[in-house]
Amino acid sequence: MNIELPDLPFDVDSLEPYISAETVKYHYLKHHKGYVDKAKKFIAGTSLADLSVEEIISKTREDDNAKKIYNSTAQIWNHNLYWHSMKKHGGGSPEGALLAQIEKDFNTLEKFQEEFKKCGLAEFGSGYVWLLFLEGKLRIISDTDAKIPVQDLNQAILNMDVWEHAYYIDYRNERGKYIDIFLKYLINWDHAASRFNSLIN
Ligand code: MN
Repeated sequence: MNIELPDLPFDVDSLEPYISAETVKYHYLKHHKGYVDKAKKFIAGTSLADLSVEEIISKTREDDNAKKIYNSTAQIWNHNLYWHSMKKHGGGSPEGALLAQIEKDFNTLEKFQEEFKKCGLAEFGSGYVWLLFLEGKLRIISDTDAKIPVQDLNQAILNMDVWEHAYYIDYRNERGKYIDIFLKYLINWDHAASRFNSLIN
């Protein structure tokens, strides 16, 4: 079996004071690990058992009979990207080609941040906000639950988890505050730029 819980790219207290060690521990060890454990159980003994997370997502995304497998493996992938979408001393501004593309598609970084926040607030239930690069254009999209709104996972530049478990301990029900903090202090533009650059080069 190829499915594993990857290490966090930072220590559990690295995002303090913005996201507490308590939140990171629960989110990583209960939620993220929980999806890994479930996915392993669901695929054991099936034809999917030896595939990668990405291959399982692709094979199950349109299959109504495989919803549980899709949801748990997509949640593994979504959380992997989410952890890499934040870092200690994150925030600020991207540079280079990604900044140029943001200015082309959103006019300014501030407009990008406004739209990202609006999108996160508009997602009614649980889900993610996604920054995608589609047909030469950056787009901000939210999608519900575990859903990944793009077939080619490489086109996902970054994501932000807006399930309540991502922010409830630190911000209670104030999703808007969490989004502001994510954009101002946590967002990992270096990782986003490396994903973006690999698409354009
Ligand atoms: Mn989560």
